This record gives sequence, structure tokens and C-alpha cells, in this order.
Amino acid sequence: KRKLTVCVIGSGGVGKSSLTLRYINGHFPEFYDPTIEESYITQIEYGFHFHEVEVIDTAGQEEFLLFRDSSMAQGDAFLLVFAIDSVSSWVHLKELRSKIVREKDDDVSIPMVVVGNKRDLEEDRQIPLEDVVEYCQRIKCPLIETSAKTSLNVTESFRMLMEQVEEHRLNL
Ligand code: GDP
Ligand code: MG
Repeated sequence: KRKLTVCVIGSGGVGKSSLTLRYINGHFPEFYDPTIEESYITQIEYGFHFHEVEVIDTAGQEEFLLFRDSSMAQGDAFLLVFAIDSVSSWVHLKELRSKIVREKDDDVSIPMVVVGNKRDLEEDRQIPLEDVVEYCQRIKCPLIETSAKTSLNVTESFRMLMEQVEEHRLNL
């Protein structure tokens, strides 16, 4: 397989489409259909070369489909997104991560990055950063806090994921 597939997953409303469009188009989207799953082909640099990457902005079908029928089955690497002001999205992220690891034959080294989005809403934070750090250390997964709104760390989150991809390849 030549093309790498990145899946952006997480609860509805956490900002998956906003992060993806911010990354792909460089601006915070105002109008888009939140129910449609979109995928984008882009070039991302890792391992000293640019590679063709497909980014799938999932839209919640994951809940209702068998894993193998969902776009998660296509994912080589995952941005696991929650919103720092949403407890349910944090609970859901941990479930999604377990599901992926289980479905990928308990391969805990699958490239993933935990993304705490809506960092601009710090005053509404419901998930203490220490809790997220503790979880990420336990599962050995990098963590980044982003804001699709202000564009904080959006490019960086994809870059971190590509580092994981590169590391995973080296470990094969
Ligand atoms: P998705 O369902 O995960 O794709 O989430 P969307 O990208 O559709 O975003 C859901 C809502 O959260 C929209 O109203 C966005 O404008 C808003 N949103 C997304 N990212 C951010 C962010 O970083 N900060 C703030 N304040 N709002 C955001
Ligand atoms: Mg969306």
C-alpha cells in the first residue's frame, strides 16, 4: 500500500472537521455539513520525504457500523480527538482507542496522537490536563492540545502523528 490513511476520530462536536479543514485549507470553517464523512488527499513530509496521505474526517458512523465496515478499518494512523470542555468526549476517546487496538490484533504501537481540542475554551475545561497526561503516559501515546479556532498546534498535531508513523515503520 502506497498511500497512508489518517483517520480523525472522536465524538461528534469535538472539532474533527474544524481541525481537518484548518489543516487542509488553513482556515476555521464556518459552513459545512457536519453529517458527511469527507476525505482529503494531501502531501505530508515525514522520514525526509513528502508522502501522499489521505485524511478521513469521520462523521459518527463509527458508532453504528461494524469496525471492518467503518472507515477506521482503513486507518493506518489516528488522531484521537476530544474537547477539553466535554467529559463524554473524553470517555468516548478512551473507548475508541481500546476498540482500535483490539481490532488491530492488540497492536499497541499503532500510530496515534491524543488531541485535546478547544484549548481556547480553557475557562470551560472539564478534563484536568493531569488526567490526560496520566492516561497518555500509561498507553505511551503522545498528547497535544489544540484549537482549530485559533489554529494553535493544528499543524503540530499532524506532524506529531507523522513522527509516530515513522517510528512505527522503523519498528516493523
Ligand atoms: P466534529 O463533529 O467533531 O467534526 O466537530 P466540528 O468541527 O463540526 O465542530 C463542532 C463545533 O465546535 C462547531 O461549532 C465548531 O465551530 C466548534 N469548534 C471546533 N473546534 C473548535 C475550537 O478549537 N474552539 C472552539 N471554541 N470551537 C471549536
Ligand atoms: Mg465533523
